[in-house]
Amino acid sequence: PGDSADFDEEVKSVCPFCGVGCQVSLKVKDGRVKYVDGIDGPANEGRLCVKGRFGFDYIHHPHRLTKPLIRRADAPPKGLNVDPGDWSTHFREASWDEALDFAASGLKGRGREVAGFGSAKCTNEEAYLFQKFIRQGFGHNNVDHCTRLCHASSVAALMENVGSGAVTATFNQIENADVAIVIGANPTENHPVAATYFKQFAKRGGKLIVMDPRGQALKRHATHMLQFRPGADVSMLNAIMHVIVEEGLYDEQYIQAMTENWEAEKAHLANFPPEKMAGICGIDAETLRAVARDFATAKAGMIFWGMGVSQHIHGTDNSRCLISLALMTGHVGRPGTGLHPLRGQNNVQGASDAGLIPMFLPDYQSVTDDGVRSAFSEIWGSGDWSSEKGLTVTEIMDAVHEDKIKAMYILGENPAMSDPDVEHARDALAKLDHLVVQDIFLTETANYADVILPATAFYEKTGTVTNTNRQVQMGRPAVAPPGEAREDWAITTELAKRCGLPWDYTHPREVFAEMKSGMASLNNITWERLEGEGAVTYPSLSPEDPGQAIVFGDRFPRAEGRARFTPASVIPPDETPDADYPMILTTGRQLEHWHTGSMTRRSKVLDAVEPEANCSLHPSTLRKLDVEPGGHVRLTTRRGSIRIMARADRAVAPDMVFVPFAYVEAAANVLTNPAIDPYGKIPEFKFAAVRVEKAEDE
Ligand code: SF4
Repeated sequence: PGDSADFDEEVKSVCPFCGVGCQVSLKVKDGRVKYVDGIDGPANEGRLCVKGRFGFDYIHHPHRLTKPLIRRADAPPKGLNVDPGDWSTHFREASWDEALDFAASGLKGRGREVAGFGSAKCTNEEAYLFQKFIRQGFGHNNVDHCTRLCHASSVAALMENVGSGAVTATFNQIENADVAIVIGANPTENHPVAATYFKQFAKRGGKLIVMDPRGQALKRHATHMLQFRPGADVSMLNAIMHVIVEEGLYDEQYIQAMTENWEAEKAHLANFPPEKMAGICGIDAETLRAVARDFATAKAGMIFWGMGVSQHIHGTDNSRCLISLALMTGHVGRPGTGLHPLRGQNNVQGASDAGLIPMFLPDYQSVTDDGVRSAFSEIWGSGDWSSEKGLTVTEIMDAVHEDKIKAMYILGENPAMSDPDVEHARDALAKLDHLVVQDIFLTETANYADVILPATAFYEKTGTVTNTNRQVQMGRPAVAPPGEAREDWAITTELAKRCGLPWDYTHPREVFAEMKSGMASLNNITWERLEGEGAVTYPSLSPEDPGQAIVFGDRFPRAEGRARFTPASVIPPDETPDADYPMILTTGRQLEHWHTGSMTRRSKVLDAVEPEANCSLHPSTLRKLDVEPGGHVRLTTRRGSIRIMARADRAVAPDMVFVPFAYVEAAANVLTNPAIDPYGKIPEFKFAAVRVEKAEDE
């Protein structure tokens, strides 16, 4: 921290990166953010990670879009071929009126030919308006966002078995737990401030059980580290639950009072003795038994999971197992217990809550329910729209290839980097006859745009966001947007008017008020409260209640108030290694870079620490390949091939390669498999068959 002479103004807001939702104090001088401190938010209690503390300067980067741009008539063919610092050969500047008229002219009246991707990086109000724009403006539900690439399968399993897609307890509840499982998550890199609570828990004697095919820093604090075979999650978790049944360690009273379908689950688990599963999951039977006993006999246990669980074609089954494990041990609904999928983006929880998904309206109310649709038609003051569930992120790209979707509005998402088998997505973007992109930088996706609308960064806007803990928090503007950039809600509103919708919003607080009329989860949470208190957790039971950190103590939001056991069978990965592609590819994030890198690679400190595309291989694998650490390898799958710098990393198994997906010059998603989980429709980013070779000289 500096002293008050270093800045003119101090503004409280929320970190724009991960779902932890750390509250920050932005120190502003001469219209620029000078530095950032953590403040006493409910999730972070003053703590920040390297991204929150040093990663803010992307907002002042010279690549920021400052004027609307329209593709030039003489531009080269669409492709990944635009320099984000010098786009003049492809685009020309336009006035807002011209750009909005042009954007609307390619969308208006086209019904099912239009689809939209909104953003988990924007506010709740902006997510709400975006889904409303597609539904009210075009009469269907073809609207989605990056939750489809993140926790969609976790939400599918939670909705099915618990009746709610959000966490049952805040991650901070770990301070009341005796045992905690962290599976398929790497919190020290991806939820770093949450990880500090996990480490403190272990330091005071809590039993920390880490399960991940890749080693990680949290391993040093773990009572047990289960480095299981990739894709063997269901075998391992069912074996652990088998022991709990076999040794009579389950909570009979809880099961009888709070759940259904137990007998079916119990019978199913008989097929998974640990002695039989050990060879499949790579964890010896004694360890599986020890973990089962530790978790089941604890007074209070929590389960945290990340995309290592969700990004599989069996992602929903993985989550079903975790839900069953918590239910059979009665570890839900009390202090120190709970199910917690660690949400990724800063507002992926809020964007999903706000209905930015093709199957649900706000508050997960089904689009197939006539009563729900008519209630929203009344709130929105206009007629009905399709009762058919809409297409998801990857299905929309397929529909473009099939000529069913011809125009898109993409706000703050970067499918030209984030989609699996990304060349398929890039070809789809190039094929569209009208693409409107709204963003703060000329992203890889904007390379394919017909019109680009310059938007504001989070520290330039007003609005609410909801973190992984269900905490709704107020974001406040610290600096003015550059040039003519505008807030996303204002741009969507102008576009909606030009598409003939009767919208007249003049401030996000009006949008929030409208959301409240259709979202019971926001009961007792007002804009004024959020301005005053900074954060309120939903559900909040009264205007004075700061919100419920733990839910479902006495009933679940399902029929008869009971949660459900859904047995999960083993489904192998879509693609398994063979002679041509003998190794396993897995992808993920790094501490310093956020998702597709559009922000963090434009942050001086973060880019200086981690400037080059890299992958991780076991030292023995590098030796076999005759590649020195820091040398280059070529990775090839059935989708494509990249050349990339290789690091030696003992955390990665000898038959595996880990590739972060933030780097356009060696994009991991050129390689990934687009096969999807049938329930959550999430791609299998965590497993593909790959060939690794020493790279040719450049
Ligand atoms: Fe931001 Fe997440 Fe780091 Fe907190 S943990 S400072 S929210 S990136």
